[in-house]
Amino acid sequence: GARLLDVRDLHVEFRTRDGTVSAVNGVSYHVDAGETLAVLGESGSGKSVTAQAVMGILDSPPGRITGGEIRFRGRDLLRASREERRRIRGARMAMIFQDALSSLNPVLTVGDQLGEMFQVHRGASRRAAKAKAVELMDRVRIPAAKQRVNDYPHQFSGGMRQRIMIAMALALEPDLIIADEPTTALDVTVQAQVMDLLADLRQEYAMGLVLITHDLGVVADVADRIAVMYAGRIMETAPVDQLYRRPAHPYTRGLLDSVPRLDRKGRGLRAVRGLPPDLRRVPPGCEFHPRCPRAREVCVRRRPPLYEVTGEDGTPLPGRASACHFWKDELADAPAR
Ligand code: SF4
Ligand code: MG
Repeated sequence: GARLLDVRDLHVEFRTRDGTVSAVNGVSYHVDAGETLAVLGESGSGKSVTAQAVMGILDSPPGRITGGEIRFRGRDLLRASREERRRIRGARMAMIFQDALSSLNPVLTVGDQLGEMFQVHRGASRRAAKAKAVELMDRVRIPAAKQRVNDYPHQFSGGMRQRIMIAMALALEPDLIIADEPTTALDVTVQAQVMDLLADLRQEYAMGLVLITHDLGVVADVADRIAVMYAGRIMETAPVDQLYRRPAHPYTRGLLDSVPRLDRKGRGLRAVRGLPPDLRRVPPGCEFHPRCPRAREVCVRRRPPLYEVTGEDGTPLPGRASACHFWKDELADAPAR
């Protein structure tokens, strides 16, 4: 598919009373039409902040973009006119958040909220807007949409409310959806259903999807590629199957080992030891060194760039990169998964 989103060397800072926080420190990633990129990381890794910068919901202090480019279909949003930015972000991109209840208006029916999109952006009549709302509710598989269109958000279950959020995001048929922990608040069975729905809709609408999550288990079946973030940087990026089978970064391996697996009893639920760094005092050298089982002296001195990852014969593995000085060792050690 065509290149939709291209984030290049993005930097975002937050001014706080205790100093400047480098929340995003040179992040690059891209998403093509019809593709799902999972952005994986612990809380505070910069994955949500990057998305907020893309969506333009960081534009006010204390968050500040201090460098880089955010290209949408080739246009750099950071250098586009306010009018153009608003047009693109209002209609061509949409975002889904974790907490549907606080994103929906409690005193409006879901039909009115969905319909409003068509009235405001498409000049639809109230009646046509209501019909569109029902159609959208059908699309996101809300049973008995015709009857439920006049219900209020609190009358729906958590999973159904998240479907309504997805319907809102889909309303104007955007090219790109960014979903920030869309299923984190839901229980496991409902998570899988909502994830399946997102995957199907992406296919159906040929959209790009950026799926932000801290849960590696959630993305395996849905994502095409993964970018693993840590301390405001990308640690590793790879096609999803390759990342699972042969990680090229110790942090990725730590995350994989922390996912419970039925076929590896007893190894589940082991989280990566230690805590992410305070972003006001990021460790020198490799950000991950205080937690890394592979760390050596050079790791404390030199920050690893994002190295291109190659196979045994030296040919580049397409789409693979690792910010580890010793990615070769990690790749060689990886057990078959
Ligand atoms: Fe670990 Fe060193 Fe690689 Fe960082 S560069 S991940 S500390 S081995
Ligand atoms: Mg977040």
